[in-house]
Order: sequence, then C-alpha cells, then structure tokens
Amino acid sequence: SAPLMAGKRGLIMGVANDRSIAWGIAKALAAQGAEVGFTYQGDALKRRVEPLAASLGSDLLVPMDVTDPESMDAAFEQVDKAWGRIDFVVHAIAWSDKDQLKGGYIDTTLDNFLKSMHISCFSFTDVARRARPLMAEGGSMLTLTYYGAEQVMPHYNVMGVAKAALEASVRYLATDLGPEGIRVNALSAGPIRTLAASGIGDFRQILGWNALNAPLRRNVTIDDVGGAGLYLLSPLAAGVTGEVHHVDSGYHTVGMLAPDKAPE
Ligand code: NAD
Repeated sequence: SAPLMAGKRGLIMGVANDRSIAWGIAKALAAQGAEVGFTYQGDALKRRVEPLAASLGSDLLVPMDVTDPESMDAAFEQVDKAWGRIDFVVHAIAWSDKDQLKGGYIDTTLDNFLKSMHISCFSFTDVARRARPLMAEGGSMLTLTYYGAEQVMPHYNVMGVAKAALEASVRYLATDLGPEGIRVNALSAGPIRTLAASGIGDFRQILGWNALNAPLRRNVTIDDVGGAGLYLLSPLAAGVTGEVHHVDSGYHTVGMLAPDKAPE
C-alpha cells in the first residue's frame, strides 16, 4: 500500500540543526512519502538547514523571520509559486531572552514579555492566516508546546505564559478553520536537549527529574515527537483537532510516585 503521506506536501518551520524537534518531525513525514519544504531564520542557519533539507530530497528552502511580516509574506508567496497548495504546516518556533529564563517569572520585562509572546505565540496565528488560502482542500497545522504552560516548571517563566496562550490559540484556530477541513493541534513535548532548551536555567536537572519520574522512566527523543507529529498531520488523525497531545513519557499524568517506586 502507498505510504501514509504519499502525495502530501507541507512546510516545516523551526529547523536550526539536526537536534531540532522540527527535524524529527520532518524525518518522520519524509519517511512516509511526504514532500517537505523548510523555512530558516537568517543566513547563519541557512548553512545548517540546507544540507538537512537536501538529505530528504527537499528543494524548497525559504528564509522567514516571524518578526518580519515582509519575510513571512515573501516565504508564503514562494511556496504558493512552487506548489500552489499545501497539506500541512509545522510551527516549531519559540524565543525568549535567556537572561529571563533563570530566576523568577516576576522579573519579566515588558519588552521581553511582548517579544516572547510575539515569536512564541502570535507567530503561529500569523502563520495559520497565511497558510489558510493554500489549504483550500483542507489541511493540518501543528505547533509545539511544553508542560510549563500547565504547571510551573523551573525557570520556564514567561515561556510558560506564552505556551499557555499558544495552547489557547490552538483551540481558537481549530474552531475558526474547522469548517474548512483544516485541523489545528499541538504536541506537548517532554524536555529534549536542543539549541532553544540550552537557554533554560537548570535544564540538565529538569531532564534528570523527568527521566526519573515519568512512567516510561526515560526522556523522549525528537523521533518520538516525530512519530506523534506524523500521526497528527496524517489522515490517521482526521477526526482530531484543537488537541494538545503530550509526548512526554507520561510525565504529565503523575502527581507523585509511590515512595518505594520513587528514585533514590
Ligand atoms: P531549536 O532551537 O532547535 O528550534 C527553535 C527554532 O525557533 C529555531 O529553528 C529558530 O530558528 C526558531 N526561531 C526563533 N525565533 C525565530 C524567529 N524570529 N523567526 C523564525 N524562527 C525563529 O529548539 P526546539 O527545542 O526544537 O524548539 C522547537 C519548538 O519546540 C519550540 O516551540 C519549543 O518551545 C518547543 N519545545 C521544546 C522542548 C524542548 O525541551 N526542547 C519541549 C517542548 C516544546
């Protein structure tokens, strides 16, 4: 039988290197026959994304900075010209001043609050609005979130607030776009060592705690997230929208492990 994503095309945003969550999703999609295009943020990252894209046989590679509306317009124009339509978009983009990803939330500055919200939350809505006309036959949109949206995690701070708003946007976008057959979902990934995560204070301790306390007793990989991304972007999830799906070894389900099961 044909691979799951045969004949499907889509755009992946947020590959910085081969440790990026977006890269895990791109690999899973391509392995099932999807044709993927990539956006990259600035020339410094182009050098890294180009060989990765080429390794999946991708020839659509466009610059896009979500703080620059002209670059977003240009990117979607290029996708429209190349493909005319798309079936999916993956938004794996977030940013906050790393000086404010240590210490407490209370010291967040207005400038960083607005920038973090813009890049980590509003940009998904901005992307969705531009992708919509390219999905006249329906489609699927996916963003990435983290448990820090629901519960307080060390030093996640303003990113937790931005992810909470992002998760709410998923529900509103799903409702706006549902009648057009466009599904909108989020994956809530457990902690993974990536470029973005390296900015979070005590991240090594967060990784260790998760591995010890999650039901699966390990951290997730970008391939774990890739598999779940493939599912949500594929026809297998045709009835799923407005959902925040956890790929975190089950960490979010645990209140407290029994003392005899707890880590030493
Ligand atoms: P990453 O550093 O590999 O990816 C982050 C991406 O955001 C980069 O490609 C970067 O270029 C892009 N980006 C930042 N500002 C941008 C801008 N102005 N315009 C365009 N792109 C911009 O790290 P990652 O961990 O793979 O992050 C991907 C997503 O996954 C993020 O939304 C992150 O919050 C989320 N996430 C990460 C973890 C984790 O532990 N790593 C857990 C849950 C959710």
